[in-house]
Amino acid sequence: MLNEQEIKKIKEQITAQIKSWQVPEEQKQQAISQVESMNSEQLEQFLIQNKLIKSEQSEKTATQQTQENQCPFCLISENKIPSYKIDEDSKSIAILEINPLTKGHTIIIPKKHQDTEKIPSQAFTLAKKISKKLKSKLKADNVEINASSISGHGFINVMPFYKNQKPTQRKKAEESELKKLQEKLITKKREIKPKTKKSSKKPKKLEKAPVRVP
Ligand SMILES: [Zn+2]
Repeated sequence: MLNEQEIKKIKEQITAQIKSWQVPEEQKQQAISQVESMNSEQLEQFLIQNKLIKSEQSEKTATQQTQENQCPFCLISENKIPSYKIDEDSKSIAILEINPLTKGHTIIIPKKHQDTEKIPSQAFTLAKKISKKLKSKLKADNVEINASSISGHGFINVMPFYKNQKPTQRKKAEESELKKLQEKLITKKREIKPKTKKSSKKPKKLEKAPVRVP
């Protein structure tokens, strides 16, 4: 509910807006007096109807929606942003970090937008699988697995470490380097069919995953 002060302020703002309308003076005066005569409830309804404010509920959903729409990890897992995918299961995807700390730095992104504490255990299983691969294919001496989150989307860092290569700081990896690593690390298996219909606009495919008939 709006208090008296808020009502006064809002009415002033609306009146000022009305004054700038490109309509005959008579219409302006009519609109202004209409606004003046509104009580708080009517005013609130008026604001909601004119989308000047959102009702509490729609505001919440809208915020959540925006968050998920803009969440880079949601966009990646929905293939709306191209990525260097090396593995996938029903719950999460494994992609190469484009700003890696070390060579082969991979992140496991759960497909669901949920924070760190809700990362599915299956994602950790995938992380361990990738970790083994980093050791066998890239000869990593040690692999660190830790959970983190960005804009409320929990994910898992899988970071290989090498005795002869000290990690300094994250830096953008060369595209050609990422492609090479992807070819080395990708798990070639039957493609997982997406549950939802693919949008007509096909995302740029970065991986070549041939279908292997068992
Ligand atoms: Zn997300």
